[in-house]
Amino acid sequence: KDYCKPSGQIKDACCDYQSIETIQNDVYDKIQNLVKSKFFRYYRADLWKDCPFWNEEGLCTNRDCSVATTDEQLLPADWRKDALSAIQLSPKGSLFQPFKQCTYKDQDFCVVDDQLDSDSVVYIDLTDNPERFTGYAGPSSGRVWKAIYEENCFDIVHQMTEGCETCNNIMNLGEKKNDQSKTSSSQISKKPISPFAQVPDSKEELDQFLNNLAEESDGGIDSNDEVCLEKRVYYRLISGLHSSISIHICDEWFDRETGVWGPNLDCFVNRIGSHPERLQNVYFTYALLLRAVKKVGPYLDQYDFRTGSNEEDEKTRFMVQDLIKSTDSCPSTFNEKLMFNGPGSYALKQEFKEHFRNVSKIMDCVGCEKCRLWGKLQTVGLGTALKVLFSYEDKSLNPVTNPNLFERGEVVALFNTFNRFSESVHAIKTFRDMYIDKMAPK
Ligand code: FAD
Repeated sequence: KDYCKPSGQIKDACCDYQSIETIQNDVYDKIQNLVKSKFFRYYRADLWKDCPFWNEEGLCTNRDCSVATTDEQLLPADWRKDALSAIQLSPKGSLFQPFKQCTYKDQDFCVVDDQLDSDSVVYIDLTDNPERFTGYAGPSSGRVWKAIYEENCFDIVHQMTEGCETCNNIMNLGEKKNDQSKTSSSQISKKPISPFAQVPDSKEELDQFLNNLAEESDGGIDSNDEVCLEKRVYYRLISGLHSSISIHICDEWFDRETGVWGPNLDCFVNRIGSHPERLQNVYFTYALLLRAVKKVGPYLDQYDFRTGSNEEDEKTRFMVQDLIKSTDSCPSTFNEKLMFNGPGSYALKQEFKEHFRNVSKIMDCVGCEKCRLWGKLQTVGLGTALKVLFSYEDKSLNPVTNPNLFERGEVVALFNTFNRFSESVHAIKTFRDMYIDKMAPK
């Protein structure tokens, strides 16, 4: 069974499953400790923005959906709204505005919540709000996932990669009944209220749409089409995120009958274990995140953490470098140089960014506060990884010559996202043991 022990090369990454599991043994405790530290546990987000694409009918009111916020006055002065606004308004800041309102730089792959004058931007202690089963499901979550996957459809015909096709055939799959609902992905950014993300007519229709997309995007395994690397990577990241979220739901499942939280093997087997490509995409995303964490390491060695204490700053610096050092035994897990390097790659990269930014906007349509928090954070985390890999050469990742390339929220999101995937790989092992145990002759 694949979910007992996946083996071999991870497609589109530079390593095999075994290498990831070996690194994971070395990094798991370190990243767990790091995300509990003062710098990494507090995240700033706007959890109550309106969905820009459709009317989302109210947030989930389950107790498990709600998020506990943190009083800003308990946080270091440099992180508070007034300090950040002062940077924004300072005359010096007009040349470089790291906290400029609600915009993104050209290098960014996602939209970070930074509207400082909004009351709904709050700080959250992530350790108080774990991502786990909340009961959020049904048409609302189905529509969000469908919208996110539809961003997989690229408009540009990319000549430089042999056999790379447009997405029209994929777009049509879930949209057979209503021609008007066919909307090219790039229309989201041009047209804020998009009709495309209709509630799927049925779970079967959503499944068919996504299964077809999975087959196509997995490199045309079961079809004659070859899908270009950039698009495969895009799909793997989204599917990897979806798998990772599902794994956390199954790993921290609430049994309503017994009132007990714990791992649910059937949930894992149904959602992930019996779909090898979904499992693979978790390892792929882990490999890409790890490459980004390693690449940004030297930059963070001189980063100003501003925790309010020199001692804490130094401790954070040490923990980050110690984590990165523990992965030295493994060669690079992902080769970003293979992407966006042919003729036409500028336009392809722009489109890739646009799609990813749209995914961060779609997260405002998630109808459960806690799911929205983690959806937003992980989109920023993946977007930051892409920014590290594709927006900067190694030599420009220098905090002395190029300070403020990354906002605090991006650094926090990158490492917390890596931790979520590290927890997923850890949970896969737990489920593997449970499965072997269940199958063993009694
Ligand atoms: P879903 O997970 O909704 O999947 C829909 C369909 O997508 C599946 O039927 C399948 O065809 C396809 N699919 C599933 N996984 C993959 C994959 N990895 N790759 C490709 N295709 C796939 N619920 C919680 O309890 N806690 C949370 O923290 C949480 N966070 C969420 C965050 C976001 C951004 C969203 C959109 C939803 C979140 N949810 C959360 C809801 C959760 O993801 C599921 O939607 C819900 O549990 C219902 O699951 P489902 O079995 O119907 O399938």
